[in-house]
Amino acid sequence: MFYKDSQNIYRVRQLEAFDWLVHGFGTRWSNSFGSCRNLATLHQIHSHTVVSAAGRSGCLGDGDALLENTPGLLVAVKTADCIPLLMVDPVHRAVAAVHAGWRGTAKRIAARAVAQMEKEFATRPGDLHVAIGPGIGKCCYRIGPEVAAEFAAYDPALRDSTQPVFLDLGEINRQQLADTGVDETRIYRAAICTMCDQDFHSYRRDKQHAGRMLSVVGIA
Ligand SMILES: [Zn+2]
Repeated sequence: MFYKDSQNIYRVRQLEAFDWLVHGFGTRWSNSFGSCRNLATLHQIHSHTVVSAAGRSGCLGDGDALLENTPGLLVAVKTADCIPLLMVDPVHRAVAAVHAGWRGTAKRIAARAVAQMEKEFATRPGDLHVAIGPGIGKCCYRIGPEVAAEFAAYDPALRDSTQPVFLDLGEINRQQLADTGVDETRIYRAAICTMCDQDFHSYRRDKQHAGRMLSVVGIA
């Protein structure tokens, strides 16, 4: 499913089936995407705001999901423990890059991006392929009771907030996507924890010294 290529970028075999698609999840060794002229990013604010790149590049303001269907342009999100998601509609040749930390996940940012793709590109959720990239794993993501309460509906273990609890952010995003009608066989999850794996920047591990990884998708 996910594998690391010779440029230290993680790619998804199922997405490589689309020869018109550019995609990759960067590591700490591979931020060369950043020098790409035709790249759109956002000032990420842990919101549920979805922005249409619509042929623009550069930083397009505040938000946490970027949509695009213009050939030659890439959209990207930056993460260091938060979950990056790349969405591909092969029928309408449209894509989205999504940044989902716990706040964005609580606000269902991934589902909002799917809904916006439906509106803008006539995307059918059942046609989407979604790659949930490397982020902090349940192994390392210990959370307090206020955060646990946000996700009690997804995981009964989170209801008992008297004990330390661990959140599986990638899994909650997977559930939210399935709830919107994305086919579960087309949701691909990286089995990688950014805090455990030294290939990645990790905000929890490296604190203010943490860099950011770039995750990129676009139509060639
Ligand atoms: Zn871990």
